Amino acid sequence: MSVPYPDLPYPKNALEPYISTRTFEFHYGKHHKAYVDNANKMLEGSELAGKDLVAIIQATAKDPAKKGLFNNTAQAWNHAFFWQCMKKGGGGKPGGKIAERITADFGSYEKFAESFKNAGATLFGSGWAWLVEKGGKLEIMQGANAETPIAQGIKPLLVVDVWEHAYYLDYQNRRPDFLQAFIDHLINWDFVNANLG
Ligand code: MN
Repeated sequence: MSVPYPDLPYPKNALEPYISTRTFEFHYGKHHKAYVDNANKMLEGSELAGKDLVAIIQATAKDPAKKGLFNNTAQAWNHAFFWQCMKKGGGGKPGGKIAERITADFGSYEKFAESFKNAGATLFGSGWAWLVEKGGKLEIMQGANAETPIAQGIKPLLVVDVWEHAYYLDYQNRRPDFLQAFIDHLINWDFVNANLG
């Protein structure tokens, strides 16, 4: 198996009431699992089988003939990363090195929070809003569908999934409310600090 299906870092009910057990049953249990299963099926007999997941994503990112494999491997990686970006009792102002870097590069935590929410809310269709470190600076990026900064060798620090499957059972069409709950109650800043290295 080239593509792992890691355990959730917390029980499925840990992030209630902001993300329901039912959402985790579908989002982790069905959507994430399907990306992993599809990716492993597509890798059978491929010259990329057995390679590191990031290497497969980088190798397929610019190859239109391998779009399906890119989509499924990138989605497998993005979801495994996304679960770690949240914890029970998370969110709000960070501490540690990331707090200083946010102030330096965005002006204030409030400005960062507004820009991050806006990136998620204005992404048209399905995708992801990322906080990344690029050229020594923090930046917010939008990624459509399965797009991922690791494909371009950019270091991801934090991500939120804004595909409808991430929030529709709990928030219906109110994506901005989901983003606000993510920012105020869910972000695992310890993980973000660790990613900063
Ligand atoms: Mn998702």
